[in-house]
Amino acid sequence: MRDELLRNPVFAMAATQFDGVADFLGLDDALRERCKWPKRLITVTVPIRHDDGSTRVYFGHRVQHHLTRGPVKGGLRYHPRVDLGEVAALAMWMNWKCALMDLPYGGGKGGIACDPRTMSQGELERMTRRYTMEMIPFIGEEIDVMAPDMGTNEQTMAWMVDTYATHAGHLVPGIVTGKPIGLQGSAGRIQATGHGAAFLACRALNKLGIPLNSATAIVQGFGNVGSHAAYDLSNSGVKITGISDVSGAIWNAGGIDTRKLRDHVAAHGGITGFPGAEPIDPARLLCQPCDILLPAATDMVINAANAPHLQCKVLAEGANGPTTPEADAIINARGDIFVIPDILCNAGGVTVSYFEWVQNLQRFQWSEREVLTKLDTMLEGAFARVLAFAERHKLPQRTAAQALAIKTVADAKAQRGMFP
Ligand code: NAD
Repeated sequence: MRDELLRNPVFAMAATQFDGVADFLGLDDALRERCKWPKRLITVTVPIRHDDGSTRVYFGHRVQHHLTRGPVKGGLRYHPRVDLGEVAALAMWMNWKCALMDLPYGGGKGGIACDPRTMSQGELERMTRRYTMEMIPFIGEEIDVMAPDMGTNEQTMAWMVDTYATHAGHLVPGIVTGKPIGLQGSAGRIQATGHGAAFLACRALNKLGIPLNSATAIVQGFGNVGSHAAYDLSNSGVKITGISDVSGAIWNAGGIDTRKLRDHVAAHGGITGFPGAEPIDPARLLCQPCDILLPAATDMVINAANAPHLQCKVLAEGANGPTTPEADAIINARGDIFVIPDILCNAGGVTVSYFEWVQNLQRFQWSEREVLTKLDTMLEGAFARVLAFAERHKLPQRTAAQALAIKTVADAKAQRGMFP
């Protein structure tokens, strides 16, 4: 299984990052092995009836990286490229993210290899319900709590709540987070990840002495994370000059009106054809001059080919794993880009998911203002810890964030000891 996981490029990338940090921390072989490999790898087949009467079998996965510090927490992804190795890598990163934010969770991730854009609502509902049923022996509000990720949303979580409630015989709101507010979701959860990424990108500009109202940003991805990051950056005075999504990329040096773009996407399903901007090649977009480059789409998009040509001052990683280790080495050698690593930059989502879970367990509701204020305080604290650790040990900010996180997990494992 080790070799099988390492053959996956995304897992190999996470494992390479882990090995580098474990060397820095001087973890002994036993702790290194226990921290690196996932506790549980679960694969299920998910047969569903399509609208045309045919039956198709999808492969669904859930990887629970560890449960040492609490229940597993992490998203559920619907995407054609989902496989066990990628899900295991994302679970490992979730584990570090929760530890970095000091949330009482281990990390997990799930996914189904499918193309949700080609599926009807009925097909998506049947697939989600069947996947949830298959997962029932392995999940619970004290065991594993899922949330939306790429290709899934509030509606997906609502179907999961209903399926689990039907099985349990009563509503168990803490079984997932990122639910609709009417089903005890949390105020502020929808925008939390994008809000957090924009908040930290602005904090980085403050550090670099760049005024927000003269700054520009390019955002890759205009889904949940990218769109909310773009709205928040615009509201803070930052000009959004470029945006891409799976349909293409657009550019306007004078600034893109993100609210009008939202209406265009709602009407046309993608950003292409937006009248307030010019089309641009999506690969070229990433290398245009800007203060903030905010990848918020998919992994491994900043690579050895484009890293030497980036012209941003801040790389704010809204997506998970957007930068390959080769690109990281180039960026570190350049030394002119302020990196906000993914496990910090996009931690707003899991932090507000944690708030949602706490509210569910307490049968209590906080206001949006309360949620976002608590979130900003926690992000500010983690940002300061990462910067201080990086400075003290002369480390890149990604390594500093990972080292703080992995040390937290390793310490907890050492304190608990090993069973039997
Ligand atoms: P989403 O499905 O809502 O949106 C994804 C966006 O990326 C879409 O606009 C899509 O068109 C675009 N996209 C896909 N492939 C692209 C490509 N090759 N080039 C340009 N754009 C492309 O997903 P999301 O929830 O916004 O997640 C985006 C990233 O953020 C993922 O890496 C996810 O793991 C990460 N993330 C999400 C959350 C969250 O709360 N949603 C939290 C933490 C991290």
